[in-house]
Amino acid sequence: MGTATLTIDLDALAANWRALDAMTSTDVQTAAVVKADGYGLGAGRVARALAQAGARRFFVAAAEEGAAVRQALGPGPEISIFSGHMRGDTDMIHDLYLTPMLNSIEQITRHFEALPGHPFGIQLDTGMNRLGMELPEWAAIAEIALQQSPTLIMSHLACADEPDHPMNAAQLKTFHDMTDGVTVPRSLSATGGILLGPDYHFDLTRPGIGLYGGAPFDAATPVVSLSLPVIQTRDVETDETVGYGGTWTAEIASRIATVSGGYADGLLRKMSNKARLFHEDTPCPVAGRVSMDMIGVDITHLAETPSCLDILGPNQTVDQLAAMADTIGYEILTSLGARYTRRYSGGHA
Ligand SMILES: *Cc1c(COP(=O)(O)O)cnc(C)c1O
Repeated sequence: MGTATLTIDLDALAANWRALDAMTSTDVQTAAVVKADGYGLGAGRVARALAQAGARRFFVAAAEEGAAVRQALGPGPEISIFSGHMRGDTDMIHDLYLTPMLNSIEQITRHFEALPGHPFGIQLDTGMNRLGMELPEWAAIAEIALQQSPTLIMSHLACADEPDHPMNAAQLKTFHDMTDGVTVPRSLSATGGILLGPDYHFDLTRPGIGLYGGAPFDAATPVVSLSLPVIQTRDVETDETVGYGGTWTAEIASRIATVSGGYADGLLRKMSNKARLFHEDTPCPVAGRVSMDMIGVDITHLAETPSCLDILGPNQTVDQLAAMADTIGYEILTSLGARYTRRYSGGHA
């Protein structure tokens, strides 16, 4: 076992989808966001497991990602694209039956001219200032766009992971102002918005991070574990240093394990001298700087020499690891590298 092993629990993924689905009333559809290669876990396998669990609508960031998901799912499920109908994507949108979420008059014009009659959705900006039409632009085009029966009208919350943030209520009000009276299905919430309660659910929710076991869905079942093989161990004496720059110094005679995995695998350099790995339930601190392919770990206190150490698993969630690198679970997941051996557990298909 030369390379690190990333284990993805498809049953946990399915359980998280069902749990988020159960948080909204039965007339609210729960979609699944599988952008960025299924948050780094493999969009094809992830999408198939979620379809098995009951998801019928999937969202990706770009048309190329939609193509990969269509290949995995076959015809049937709706696959929507947040970036809308970009120049050059027309053939892919048509051939793979993807649904662009159109976010400007320019995109609406492009879509209606290139693919008349092809499904589309509408994306509105209610205050995040990232994607979608603001009120004046929407007012100018709404009548024409609505005549062509969009599949969905959606917007996105900027601060949903902070329940008390005033921006949530402000965006909710703006979304109502822009869409009340329209008969098209509406969607405002990702994972954070689901947790804000029924006012935010509308007709469809779009969870991503919660499916993969990340905050703010605290009740999530962990989905990923990552185990790094020990390449070599060595004894260092008091005052010897470990790794580039000699930033870790042995205060007592110590035992160091060098494990396979580094910043080229998404184990961020910010974890240097901060993160912990686990041998069973025993934490072992990172000793020195994370290098490209290797990490030094202080195992002085272990009675035996382990063959591998866990950096993600039951003792350390993606959010706990993220906190040690001053980042968020999303970045940890989507940074996970291509060198890992991926092992999928559970699932049926
Ligand atoms: C990424 C994204 C989601 C999913 O967000 P999570 O916070 O991961 O649940 C939903 N909608 C849009 C527009 C997104 O960009």
